[in-house]
Amino acid sequence: MRERIIAGNWKMNTLPEEGAELAHEVAKAVKDIDNVKIVICPPATHLCHISNAIKGSNVGLGAQNVHWEEKGAFTGEVSTSMLKALGCQWVIIGHSERRQMFGETDEGVNKRLRHIVKSNIRPIVCIGETLEERQAGDTFKVLERQIRIGFEGVEMSGNSGVVIAYEPVWAIGTGLTATPEQAQEAHHFIRELLSEMYGSENAAATVIQYGGSMNEKNADVLMSCEDVDGGLIGGASLKPESFAAIVNASSMI
Ligand code: PEP
Repeated sequence: MRERIIAGNWKMNTLPEEGAELAHEVAKAVKDIDNVKIVICPPATHLCHISNAIKGSNVGLGAQNVHWEEKGAFTGEVSTSMLKALGCQWVIIGHSERRQMFGETDEGVNKRLRHIVKSNIRPIVCIGETLEERQAGDTFKVLERQIRIGFEGVEMSGNSGVVIAYEPVWAIGTGLTATPEQAQEAHHFIRELLSEMYGSENAAATVIQYGGSMNEKNADVLMSCEDVDGGLIGGASLKPESFAAIVNASSMI
């Protein structure tokens, strides 16, 4: 059976003290869950605070981005070893907000991913089509390009720990959610492509999360889809009771 992973992407929200309080609340609310991996990804400035706040809990710590070099003249960037030193075991890469607002490309995702898989930290690789791309019938073409370029030269085996988050851009922060049919269709396509690239066993073992306005009301139907193995949660991850409800829904499937 595949792992189930629910990760919260806090984006650029909360101050460090508030974040530590939120992390505490989350850890308290999910303390009895043992069949779902739970991750929170606060802003980089909070990692140290939050690492302490969740110490000893079943909540893992992730960052929202990382550079592909370990050190050097890269103003404003952080490296995997810096993240690990603060207790991070996870990192999101290729989020659509970074692609759309900060010029990140499939090639940049590829450089990050090649580096991260050697770093003993687990990447959550975000992919997904825009509304225009979906309406033009290009969803699969876009997903295939993002995966083929993003994963070029990346060795992957069942235990490599790579997670993919399918996040239709039109569903992120909009309150619009993919229907279970749309989510399953995209996840199935991704798994078939992984199977062609890495073999069916590796594809079957890869966790594919759904992201895009997932909340406590729609989490159970989305996560009941055969190829949906968890969620990457934005807005709802800032409310401990909503995030915990999503984790609970996931634990019952
Ligand atoms: C996200 O930012 O990855 C996301 C899924 O956001 P939201 O849940 O707010 O749509």
